[in-house]
Amino acid sequence: MIDNERVGIYGIYTDITARKQAERALAESEERYRKLVEFLPDAIIVHRESKIEYSNMAALQLLGGKTQQEIQGLHITRLIHPDYAETARVRLTAVLRDKAYMPMTEYKIVRLDGTVVDVEISATWLSYRGEDAVLSVIRDITERKKAQETINNLAYYDTLTGLPNRTLFQECFAIELAHAKRNNAPLAVMFLDLDKFKNVNDTLGHGAGDKLLKAIAERLQKTVRVTDTVSRMSGDEFILVLSELNMVEDVVNVAQKVLDAFQQPFIVDNNEFYTTISIGISLFPQDGTEVEALVKNADAAMYKAKEIGGNNYQFFTPNINETIIERQNLFNRLRKALNNKEFEVHYQPRVNLKTGNITGTEALLRWRRPDRGIILPAEFIPIAEETGLIVPIGEWVLRTACAKNKSWQEQGLVPLRVSVNLSAKQVQMQSFVMTVDRILKETGLDPMYLELEITESAVIQNMDLTLKVLSQLKDMGVYISIDDFGTGYSCLSRLKRMNVDMLKVDQTFIREVMNDKNDYAIVSSIITMAHNMDMVVTAEGVDKEEQLNILNSLNCDDMQGYLYSKPLTEEEFLRFMVETGK
Ligand code: C2E
Ligand code: MG
Ligand code: MG
Repeated sequence: MIDNERVGIYGIYTDITARKQAERALAESEERYRKLVEFLPDAIIVHRESKIEYSNMAALQLLGGKTQQEIQGLHITRLIHPDYAETARVRLTAVLRDKAYMPMTEYKIVRLDGTVVDVEISATWLSYRGEDAVLSVIRDITERKKAQETINNLAYYDTLTGLPNRTLFQECFAIELAHAKRNNAPLAVMFLDLDKFKNVNDTLGHGAGDKLLKAIAERLQKTVRVTDTVSRMSGDEFILVLSELNMVEDVVNVAQKVLDAFQQPFIVDNNEFYTTISIGISLFPQDGTEVEALVKNADAAMYKAKEIGGNNYQFFTPNINETIIERQNLFNRLRKALNNKEFEVHYQPRVNLKTGNITGTEALLRWRRPDRGIILPAEFIPIAEETGLIVPIGEWVLRTACAKNKSWQEQGLVPLRVSVNLSAKQVQMQSFVMTVDRILKETGLDPMYLELEITESAVIQNMDLTLKVLSQLKDMGVYISIDDFGTGYSCLSRLKRMNVDMLKVDQTFIREVMNDKNDYAIVSSIITMAHNMDMVVTAEGVDKEEQLNILNSLNCDDMQGYLYSKPLTEEEFLRFMVETGK
């Protein structure tokens, strides 16, 4: 019995020892796992009914909590970025329903302080204290994302031209600049922008535009030394950094070489293209000591080059920025001028030299600014053209001139032609012919009393399209003149083919026609040629009796100028017409 008991006791004793050992082993193992989980570098959380039950140290750190208590009980939707809330909900539901595993997926989470972190989360079902729960492993992937971005930026070359792109330019330039600073060496930055490149894209399509850009990139590279890098900044903008300069003259030489390189045509799809470029230059150290300032100033100088007509280079000067601000102001005012009814049209009569009869009147735009009085077109037409504002403004001039002319006729004046100046931009609008047609109908003016003037340079800019538009207008019965004739290089025979009615000889030839042999010869031959092609010739800007005499002797048809009359307001013009009885 005792033995039995002993045995029994012994047996019990043995039993307890074994259980204790097992329990201790279990506790140890649990402790081991707990520690393992606790110190795992990945964030681990266990959540039940979407509330956090457990989180390890890494989770605490990732979420930005100080104590576990801050996180305990937190709703899981509080952590998931709203953009990912729905995906998270669907996936967690599936994990619980199917007791399944959700592989690593990218999410964004919102830390306790509100900052957002890129993470990857995997989740699995878990029985936690006898209930269904989810164990999520969250990994911070901020660094990886950053690395990815860098790799993307490593695309250092422009795919179209093969030139270094903006990123590479900035990195290289920073190095060059540091080098120059150490050695006290000068540097020059040239900002290059093609003149009117948008026209190429608009009229020939982007395919041809791209080919032209490629050809230009090649030529630029050939033009500069191998040590000077050409980069493409964007669209039609290139940048050139010149190092190893001896003096400013070196920069001037390179700039001139670049301009000269554009004298030759570019061949695209077997067509010859002429294009020009504007160059702005900033110098280190006088115009800036950091990459950004030097580029910005070169850009500002480039704008100056554009402003004076393109195809030239300009050095940065401190007051250039003022000019740019002024331009911006001008643009802002100009934008509102139409609505504010600040524009008016003045009229300058044109007279026949032989009969003395008025053969027409030119509509000339004026801007009456409340703060400055009358402003002439030279001050605002260029910016209106550049920004496209010329299209609505030009349409307004056209409508005003047609309506006025109709009303003069209705008041009993001898019917005469009103001529309206067109900008190349207007003519290139697809709807232009329709616009003219509509305005004629709206105002009731007979097309024969409308004359449209287009400058010779606008015709050349886009020869085929312009000639087509002009001949459509001609078919409508509108009279066509070529303005500022002699300043470009028009192909006279083409003008003839489309039946241009009149050439207006530019005033620069008239000014010295009595003293300058060259001008005399030009005017004389324009008149002869034009007459051979049945075109009428008007001399512009005649303000002296001597000019008139010569023009008479050369058989010029009409003249327009201060000698006969300045441009007049509409009331003055009406009075003028009534008084002269014409
Ligand atoms: P344009 O079409 O060649 O106009 C002739 C310019 O010469 C006018 O200048 C006129 O006032 C000026 N002029 C006339 N007679 C004489 C003279 O005897 N001596 C001198 N020195 N000048 C004379 P304005 O009005 O300042 O216009 C300048 C240019 O602005 C025009 O040249 C034309 O190209 C443009 N423009 C004027 N109105 C418009 C318009 O409504 N639309 C567009 N796109 N351009 C316009
Ligand atoms: Mg004109
Ligand atoms: Mg003119």
